[in-house]
Amino acid sequence: MTAMTARLFAKTSNWMVHGIHTACAVLVVVFAASVFLVLDASVEQANKFGQATERKLVQQEFQHQIDEIVKYQAAVSIWDATVAQIRSAEFSKYFVERQLRNRLWSEFGFSWTVFVPTGKPAAIAINRGEEVSPDKADTLLFWIDDLVYEATQNYWGAMKKTDGGFIIRKPAADPDLLSPELPFIHASDMRMVDGRLSIVVVQAVLPRSLFIPAGFEQPTLMVSVKPISDKMLSIMSDRLGISGLHVVKQDELKDDPTAYTPVGKGFTDGPFLVAWQPNAPGPTIWEAVMPKVALLSTLAAISMGFIAWRFGMLVRALQRSEASNRFLAKHDGLTGLANRIGFQEALEAFTNTDRNGPLSIIAADLDKFKTVNDRFGHAAGDAVLKTIAQRFRDRVGDRGIVARLGGDEFMVILRDVSNREEALAIANGMVIDAQIPIPYNNLLLQVGSSAGIAFYPQHGRNLRNLVHSADMALYQAKNSGRGRSVIFESEQPEAVAPEETQSAA
Ligand code: GH3
Ligand code: MG
Repeated sequence: MTAMTARLFAKTSNWMVHGIHTACAVLVVVFAASVFLVLDASVEQANKFGQATERKLVQQEFQHQIDEIVKYQAAVSIWDATVAQIRSAEFSKYFVERQLRNRLWSEFGFSWTVFVPTGKPAAIAINRGEEVSPDKADTLLFWIDDLVYEATQNYWGAMKKTDGGFIIRKPAADPDLLSPELPFIHASDMRMVDGRLSIVVVQAVLPRSLFIPAGFEQPTLMVSVKPISDKMLSIMSDRLGISGLHVVKQDELKDDPTAYTPVGKGFTDGPFLVAWQPNAPGPTIWEAVMPKVALLSTLAAISMGFIAWRFGMLVRALQRSEASNRFLAKHDGLTGLANRIGFQEALEAFTNTDRNGPLSIIAADLDKFKTVNDRFGHAAGDAVLKTIAQRFRDRVGDRGIVARLGGDEFMVILRDVSNREEALAIANGMVIDAQIPIPYNNLLLQVGSSAGIAFYPQHGRNLRNLVHSADMALYQAKNSGRGRSVIFESEQPEAVAPEETQSAA
């Protein structure tokens, strides 16, 4: 393989192999990226789903707290003792102390307990266990007047005329329920009271019998306020398995990028919200799946790497074989010199170029070569051909190209050599090269060589004529005793190639 062919081969091979390697690397990256994107999207969905679930749970937890307060309040608001207090001129010290202070404030933590007869100012107001002037409750009543109105409406709506008065309808008892069903006449909501998010429950005071004698139907409403304490929030957080549950104003929310939900009436919109740190399953998913993704990606990378490597090898082998075939088509397998095709191509290339300078060719044929074959065998003949081919190549060097056209017949193209002396010197050198004995299996093989020289374009403008001229000169060298070089004489080829006459003359 010539250096040029090797370079050309290396270039193509690098390009192809790089292409395959890049494609495989891109595939691995695409694979890893797809897995990553799918996982990322799944994690986002899981986080969203988790937050929606938590929001629902938080809303339900607040509703549960409201229900609890409704029940606590009902213990006092649906009670004959309370009805008796309302119907008397004023609340007894004992009732205030035992029920409103010790029970509702100390035990249940109701910050306000207010009794409001319909259409009148508050009759009594207890704030944090202390009886205060009823007008202190005016602000509270102003902010919850919708609840007072709603509870009043509920009360009237549930009333049914009966003998001697009215009865409040209540749902039929259901043994499947844990607590006794209350008449559904309260109004409740989450409100800001005294700067705290609080549960507010309003309900008409009723006797246990739910019977209201005629003339006593105008209700007195009991208002209870239970602030949501930090402790309550923390207990709720624990129960829900979330953290950082806290109350936040809507307009502060932009500094609070946590999960949040409005609480209270309808759970839709409100000036305040509760917020918390959402449990994002994302990191857990990543943690669980990443090692598998990494393993899969590594396997994909290894497989693709293997494919790229094998494919690269295959391409290289193919290209090597192709390059070798191309080389063999133009070279002689025994000596590595150009063969007849290679020689013709080279000569045509030289004579067809625009800058076709002068050149000369030498036709050489070994003398008595057949004898070597006959006496020492074909292998010995081959050894002679190889050695002499190398000697010719060394002699010509980069001044030209040496070819073996077949048998013991060599042809040399000497670029830019038009000088008779120089061409003759090279041809004579070749004759001497062939005469140097060749060591072979403890033998010294002796042949010789004759050479014929022709010049381009004087002795032939085309390949056929130029070669013919060199052959004629070689023939002459053989005929005049072998072991010599002869320059073609212009008279001879005239008969063969008439078109050469003028240029040769
Ligand atoms: P002359 O001096 O007239 O040139 O005679 P010669 O003995 O050299 O014989 P000639 O050139 O006419 O024939 C060349 C011989 O080379 C004929 C053939 O047997 C032999 N030959 C052709 N190709 C090969 C080859 O590849 N290897 C070997 N060992 N011999 C070959
Ligand atoms: Mg010969």
